[in-house]
Amino acid sequence: MTKFEALKDLVIDAYKEEHTKLVWATTLSVDTPSIYSADFNMAIINVNYHKEKGYLFFASFHELGHSATVHEGDHRLHTWNEYDVANDSERSANTWAIKHLLKHHHDNDGRDLIYEFMDIYQIPYSLSDLVETIMFE
Ligand SMILES: [Zn+2]
Repeated sequence: MTKFEALKDLVIDAYKEEHTKLVWATTLSVDTPSIYSADFNMAIINVNYHKEKGYLFFASFHELGHSATVHEGDHRLHTWNEYDVANDSERSANTWAIKHLLKHHHDNDGRDLIYEFMDIYQIPYSLSDLVETIMFE
């Protein structure tokens, strides 16, 4: 199994666990960000967008994080933006995704090296402070 296939299986299993629908769309414009819809409990991950900008796997987990941490009065639609770290629901989704991936990392004897961890799971470097906090809390 390639690294890509292993990460894809990890994504598919996590969506099953959270009872959330997942589409990896391959026909959308490279400018269309990925999205999570609370109304449909579905994430649409734009493969073309992430081929160009990176973060395919982390974006898949981030959008699932919206499903796992959704609460009353939350926005019904979440659009992927790797630099939006201030917003509360974005922070919850990022935290959920990082914790989920860190558990998998540790289960596979991964080391507590921030950038090694971020490179494996395609986590944007803009989230390194949050990764550090979660890794060493
Ligand atoms: Zn988001």
